[in-house]
Amino acid sequence: MRVLITGAAGFLGSHLCDRFLEEGHEVVGMDNFITGSADNLAHLMGREGFRFVKYDVTEFIYVTGRLDGVLHFASPASPVDYLEFPIQTLKVGSLGTHKTLGLAKAKGARYLLASTSEVYGDPLEHPQTEGYWGNVNPIGPRGVYDEAKRFAEALTMAYHRFHGLDTRIARIFNTYGPRMRPADGRVVSNFLVQALLGEPLSIYGDGSQSRSFCYVSDLIEGLYRLFFSEESEPVNLGNPVEFTIAELADLVLEVMGGDSEVRHLPLPEDDPKVRQPDIGRARRVLGWSAKVELREGLDRTAVHFRQLRDQERLPSPRVLAGDGTE
Ligand code: UDP
Repeated sequence: MRVLITGAAGFLGSHLCDRFLEEGHEVVGMDNFITGSADNLAHLMGREGFRFVKYDVTEFIYVTGRLDGVLHFASPASPVDYLEFPIQTLKVGSLGTHKTLGLAKAKGARYLLASTSEVYGDPLEHPQTEGYWGNVNPIGPRGVYDEAKRFAEALTMAYHRFHGLDTRIARIFNTYGPRMRPADGRVVSNFLVQALLGEPLSIYGDGSQSRSFCYVSDLIEGLYRLFFSEESEPVNLGNPVEFTIAELADLVLEVMGGDSEVRHLPLPEDDPKVRQPDIGRARRVLGWSAKVELREGLDRTAVHFRQLRDQERLPSPRVLAGDGTE
């Protein structure tokens, strides 16, 4: 196959490029580097079967030659990023989804949308099944991401139903692993980097809110299986083992050693109180579930941040101040 991956220089996009190339496919990667980094693709440059185009996918996209798949992974994905780039986040989820769907239709390609557990907002159903419609504040600070992704799902289903496009929707839950930026702003990278730098771990609120963390190799396996499945309904992909943020902080301190303390900061507005995927559909239609336990995944991710530290490229994490500013 020859596939286009948008957001190719991002955390998930770059791992997805690796996977498709490993399986013998050709990949065209696209990214405008708003939050992606050329470092994530450096090892692929010049490799046979890989081509990179620096481009903003909210503009009309022109790709020469055949395309059998379009995987739309471009978007800021950390709350800190979508607060910094609210309009771009809305545009890449809406206009970017429209352009990539249009391209897939023109090329007769299969389409996969990277959606998110954020479509469930601050969920009133727990764990979240794909049948749950969500509890999202459209005008809150997170609305720019949540609503863009909800619109992206609606548009994808409209192309599927109206144009008969072959589509897939992955609802991706919190994922972590190597290639996350140290200043990404999300909790796993923040805690690991803070522990490495001997800074206090920044717990927002009392730390009783929960998340379920999936290691990147597991997620990529799920995405790859979904792409090659027949499932056009959304599929949750995540690791259902749930932790409170306070538990995560304890585990990071245990795994990393060091003498960091914890510091409590105000809980950001609309921060979901709980999150856990019901992965019954993924198990059924993909035969997939996450394998890597959090402790093991934290160890592997710490290797990446230690390398950056040794290269003196480990900045302090970005931390939210509770009023939504950094
Ligand atoms: N969080 C935290 N400290 C941080 C970053 C995040 O306590 O330095 C909390 C945040 O309030 C949320 C959870 O960790 O409850 C996960 O946040 P993240 O930004 O990783 O992603 P989210 O799941 O909210 O999109």
